[in-house]
Amino acid sequence: MTARQTSSHFPRAITGMAAEQPPARIVIFIGAPGSGKGTQSSLLSSRYDIPCISTGMILRDEAKKNTPVGFRLRQTMASGALVDDQTVCDAVVSRIRDSYEQGKASLILDGFPRTVSQAKRLNDELKALGIPGPLVIHLDVPDHVLLQRLARRRQCATCGAVYNLASKTSKNGARCQFDGGALVERDDDSEGVVARRLTSYRRETLPVIEYFRKNDSANGIYRRIDGNLEATAIASEVCDLMRFADTAMAA
Ligand code: AMP
Repeated sequence: MTARQTSSHFPRAITGMAAEQPPARIVIFIGAPGSGKGTQSSLLSSRYDIPCISTGMILRDEAKKNTPVGFRLRQTMASGALVDDQTVCDAVVSRIRDSYEQGKASLILDGFPRTVSQAKRLNDELKALGIPGPLVIHLDVPDHVLLQRLARRRQCATCGAVYNLASKTSKNGARCQFDGGALVERDDDSEGVVARRLTSYRRETLPVIEYFRKNDSANGIYRRIDGNLEATAIASEVCDLMRFADTAMAA
């Protein structure tokens, strides 16, 4: 896989937010499919000018390739299962190292880690690089809201920007506001696959949340946010958390 970091879909001109001094840390957004990890990662990335690594985007790009790895990823992702830890960890760790070598210790992780084994590998890597424990933001959303959001979610076929059919910008065959790309449903947002993704989330990822919750303060900071609030209200809570984490690190 190539070492590429995903960029924000919310240019600062659109979010109306000025870039702030980036604090040196790893911010992890964790939550079920449809909890708003991608949206919040993009908003935070724009606000603080921190690169974002989205494992879903990296894997979708890789899955498009006509290679044995691409074929295997297509099959796994279409089934709603998680991709194996080794493949995902190698992709993320190489990007963290690249970023660190370029002098950028701050990163946003969208969709990683999703298993306890991935969380432990990340922990080892951060320790080895001397990067402080992560700020883990858990976006907690009730199941019925997740199902509604995923049924209405559309994505730009070109740049991957996410839209909701209920919003004004994506009604009546609208196209992507950034590049005019067609808005399409993700293959894995169909009803049957969503059910399997939620099962994977409960089985594999809820224990990761518990892992971070238990290690709060010993190894980073864990906070739960009500992910059922408006995106702007959540973004504001996230910014408060960034400031809180700065103070906690300085203390
Ligand atoms: P997402 O875009 O984050 O919803 O991810 C889409 C799909 O990519 C998931 O359903 C998984 O199949 C795969 N995936 C993304 N991140 C991970 C991860 N950290 N570990 C394993 N599989 C992942």
